[in-house]
Amino acid sequence: MRRTDPPADPPVDAPGTAFIAHCRAGFEPEAARDLERMAEAAHVASTIVATVGCGYAIARTGRALDLRRAAAYLRDTGPVFVRSAFLAKGPFPIADAAKTGARPDRIVPLVAAAGSLRAATPFSALWIEHPDTNEGKRLSPLARALHARLAGALRERELLDEAGAGAGASRPRLHVMLLDGATAWLGVSDPTSGSPWPMGIPRLHLPRGAPSRSTLKLAEACLTFLGDQETELLHAGMHAVDLGAAPGGWSWQLAQRGLRILAVDNGNLQGAIAEDAHVTHVREDGLRFRPRKPVDWVTCDIVESPSRIAALMGAWIAEGTARQAIFNLKLPMKKRYDEIERCRDIITAMLDRAGLRPRLALRQLYHDREEVTGYLARR
Ligand code: SAM
Repeated sequence: MRRTDPPADPPVDAPGTAFIAHCRAGFEPEAARDLERMAEAAHVASTIVATVGCGYAIARTGRALDLRRAAAYLRDTGPVFVRSAFLAKGPFPIADAAKTGARPDRIVPLVAAAGSLRAATPFSALWIEHPDTNEGKRLSPLARALHARLAGALRERELLDEAGAGAGASRPRLHVMLLDGATAWLGVSDPTSGSPWPMGIPRLHLPRGAPSRSTLKLAEACLTFLGDQETELLHAGMHAVDLGAAPGGWSWQLAQRGLRILAVDNGNLQGAIAEDAHVTHVREDGLRFRPRKPVDWVTCDIVESPSRIAALMGAWIAEGTARQAIFNLKLPMKKRYDEIERCRDIITAMLDRAGLRPRLALRQLYHDREEVTGYLARR
């Protein structure tokens, strides 16, 4: 919990009094730290509630917040553990009491709650969500069942218009987060700064031929950090070094995109990637290895202390051995947030000394477990 002084000027638009952040179950205290930093940056007094295991953290504010500003603070403070966040009101009762005994009508109370958000324009999308926990997942059939009917009812009242939705849309999205069959938070997020996926979860399927599930981590990292610029930043003909490559899931992603890869690991590559003409397997210590010529990319998934990996990636980029890096920081320790801050400081100090102002982003991705993925790039 943290309190700071509110700013002198009141917000212009007031769609919510709480900020709800989806996160990995068990990482609520870390998501709460992200929210604290945002509240501090925005000078908004807030009470942060983060029950361990519930899959989200809430920052409640004493007064209404403005979406435009909340979105800007979300973008500027770069949350690590918040997967997706929305400005919310509630929780609302959504099972109409008048229908007790019969099947409850949830559409009427949900439409009324959506109307009470008083958005100036129709919402650009409807996302019906639930916490990403085992209990929360039991609500997904209800979420699916409600979607078409609620969207129809919202369109009828001109509260929803999906025309032009998707990347680049500027009208807010409507979030309905079911807590159970009878209660939900409702709120809004800004499509230009929020996660592009409901609950911050990209739907990725394990590709045929990929040698490990961790291939999905690199696929998600590319979507998250490179977005629309992926084909410009990561493309055929580039050279990459993959440190801690075995059994080959990350090398597989790079090979699919046509890069030539030095896969560094004493362990064996498995499946087709072991024979792939794009890949050269190097049995060396990835913590010491350097290629003969600079490369476009270095990726690193070695299980080592986070600060050591941070220093390694800082060195590769500061020296100019690679232009861009994607790496994983394993977090088995208790003070996970402090450790990530320490890694950020290590990298920033190294790049500062080299006179570089790189792009650095650290995020716990959906496919990350006790870990965080980083992206570091020379500008
Ligand atoms: N990214 C891989 C994939 O998608 O299949 C999984 C990597 S696995 C989590 C970690 C790998 O790091 C192991 O194969 C291990 O042998 C390797 N490793 C650990 N220490 C290493 C070191 N000092 N140098 C090179 N590889 C190392």
